[in-house]
Amino acid sequence: MNILFATSECVPFIKTGGLADVAGSLPKALKDKNTDIRVVMPLYANISEKYKKKMKKVDEFDVGLNWRKQTCEIFSLKNDGVMHYFLGNDYYFNREGGIYGHYDDGERFLFYSKAVLEMLPYIDYIPDIMHCNDWHTAIIPYLANTHYKPHYTDMKTVLTIHNIKYQGIYGRETLFDILDLKPEEITLDFEYNDAINIMKSGIYNADWITTVSPSYARELEFDYFGEGLEGVISVNRYKMTGILNGIDYDAHNPAKDKNLYAAYTRSYNKKQENKEKLLEELGLEYDENRPVIGMITRLDELKGIDLVMAVGKEIMDLDVNLVLLGTGEEMYEDYFRYLESQYPEKMSARIMFDSKTASRIYAGSDIMLMPSRVEPCGLNQIIALKYGTVPVVRNTGGLGDTIFEYDEVANEGNGFKFDDYNAHAMLFEIEKAVDIYKNNRESWKKLVANAFKCKYDWKASAAEYKKVYKNTMIRQEDENILQLT
Ligand code: ADP
Repeated sequence: MNILFATSECVPFIKTGGLADVAGSLPKALKDKNTDIRVVMPLYANISEKYKKKMKKVDEFDVGLNWRKQTCEIFSLKNDGVMHYFLGNDYYFNREGGIYGHYDDGERFLFYSKAVLEMLPYIDYIPDIMHCNDWHTAIIPYLANTHYKPHYTDMKTVLTIHNIKYQGIYGRETLFDILDLKPEEITLDFEYNDAINIMKSGIYNADWITTVSPSYARELEFDYFGEGLEGVISVNRYKMTGILNGIDYDAHNPAKDKNLYAAYTRSYNKKQENKEKLLEELGLEYDENRPVIGMITRLDELKGIDLVMAVGKEIMDLDVNLVLLGTGEEMYEDYFRYLESQYPEKMSARIMFDSKTASRIYAGSDIMLMPSRVEPCGLNQIIALKYGTVPVVRNTGGLGDTIFEYDEVANEGNGFKFDDYNAHAMLFEIEKAVDIYKNNRESWKKLVANAFKCKYDWKASAAEYKKVYKNTMIRQEDENILQLT
């Protein structure tokens, strides 16, 4: 089985969120003697020179964009046994700044998607399944079913929705221009409030759709979660599966993590050592009896930051340390800076994206707070468990699928969770956790031991993806047989 995993970000080369983690670890888990899976991504300016130096140029070709052409260079690099291709174009990807958020993102990723389809003869590899991810590559299923169908007759497409909030909505002229479409070719599967919606076209055109947790797959049919595409999801529900993300325990493992002050495997005491050093580094007071609440997050409305803002003072009044690592909306960044100014000995706001600090916070916190309004899967809580840090989460999406309320009497469960999107519901669970930490340390240690024991690796999830790929290919054969008869 040949699978090409098309993504806009991938660990260790470039990362803004969970998609990069998945792209870095799922292909590695899927690869075996019967599965030749390869990854393709753009060659961004800010990929480290360390990797760029090792890349080999494979070829270059022109991508036709209506009346003009743009060159695309293909580079390759094997990482962890998986072949990665990098598609380079100076105009679109050799830019200063972040990898997203440019004025012409629609054009950039339409170019990239076309280039992914056009590069296949140059790498001499035709996938059975083209696995697309989020809106950046969600135009590929449409293109594979139409313009490129004569070239890749047997290729099927799978689209994974990592987060439906980001849909790639652009003016019609972008699509007319880049894909050389005529107005009458814009059908209902693109139409969206008089603009075009690339995610929507992917949902209609992909042969199969997956999302990153079973709960999120169910939630997407409701308008609270569907971000306007709930109806589209309902219509296409027949070809949709929710598969929980795993994490790569080679990359997220306190026993191997070089960023930690003290490596550990399921050791409560070593964890405390990391906590003491973390607080020292952040300039906070250490007190054995005071739990550290960590937050490592994009500062986005989806992440439930409003709940924290509503009861920030009440949280600090519980006599805890609060450590935040995150970047995002200015309003939220400013709020945490303000909170730090109010509680300089107990609160630290690191407004940045930094993997080293993230590792140290995972290890040095007692509690990991994730009050997300919506959380397709969430990796933080899974990483936190591995580091023996107890998650307090809202019961939504993948958070609900991985975190189970701690029952002190039965000693079951791995964290705390609340249902309503309500600041006091969250505060109640934080209070519960803090109370056990402060007043019943033996129970707390048992809870930490439960967290350590949890295993959400890629093995089971990779097997589910394989099933999806196989079924998608069989569906194709069925359709062929139907056409013949
Ligand atoms: P999302 O993809 O919505 O941002 P996930 O929980 O799926 O959320 O993945 C977030 C990933 O990004 C985790 O690996 C987390 O540790 C990491 N992360 C988030 N913010 C930061 C930050 N400021 N610095 C370092 N790592 C971060």
